[in-house]
Amino acid sequence: DAANPVLELSGLTYSYPDGTEALHRIGLRVEQGERVALLGPNGAGKTTLTLHLNGIIPARQGHLAIDGLEVAEPNLREIRRMVGLVFQDPEDQLFMPTVREDVAFGPINFGVRGTDLEERVRRALEAVGMTEHADRAPLRLSGGQRKRVALATVLACDPRLLVLDEPSAGLEPVARRELAELLLELNPTMLMVTHDLPYALQLCPRSVLLDGGQVVADRPTAELLADTELLAAHRLELP
Ligand code: ATP
Repeated sequence: DAANPVLELSGLTYSYPDGTEALHRIGLRVEQGERVALLGPNGAGKTTLTLHLNGIIPARQGHLAIDGLEVAEPNLREIRRMVGLVFQDPEDQLFMPTVREDVAFGPINFGVRGTDLEERVRRALEAVGMTEHADRAPLRLSGGQRKRVALATVLACDPRLLVLDEPSAGLEPVARRELAELLLELNPTMLMVTHDLPYALQLCPRSVLLDGGQVVADRPTAELLADTELLAAHRLELP
């Protein structure tokens, strides 16, 4: 449905079982083609929010939908295909003997077979520039290459929303720059959690600042990063 934003959430409140309120009445809309950075100090609620997006944590208070489809049973299988989560550590999502098998894993899980599967894997590997490494062991690759394979594993599922958790963390400067160039070229609808403010500026025209489980700013990234008082108030630092 063209009228639906890719991500729509409102009134999202969540407390962990120990009573810690991690999210308080969060509202957020991400339109098709938007790239949004999710910023905030440690403990702001960024990870908790991303875990809601594909239903790992079920939303009990609030409304959450991807492409108009509610993030709840019986839609969670489809939601998990639509929301491609790229974890901070590729080791958390690469576990097969070869790159090709890791990239095939998601589509197989969603029922894709045969030439359709081969084509998806081929396209995903090509998209991240890893075609020639298809038969290598993922964990023998460099950090930047592993990150790109992790990205291919979710691209192969044809996600509607890409969610990246700290994509630049731990990458060498060259790999960091190559990943940014790749993401700009792929141009997905994406939400990127990061502490790397220059990376947010380079990749995301819009930023949402979370603190204490609440949205405290939702503005153009350049404007937000120019607000030194706001950054200081929320313990964010430009290098
Ligand atoms: P970081 O930048 O350090 O990753 P974050 O913005 O991702 O932080 P969250 O990890 O979502 O923040 O944490 C939000 C709040 O929820 C914090 O107060 C945190 O201590 C708390 N919290 C996180 N995980 C749990 C848990 N499993 N049980 C209880 N409280 C938790």
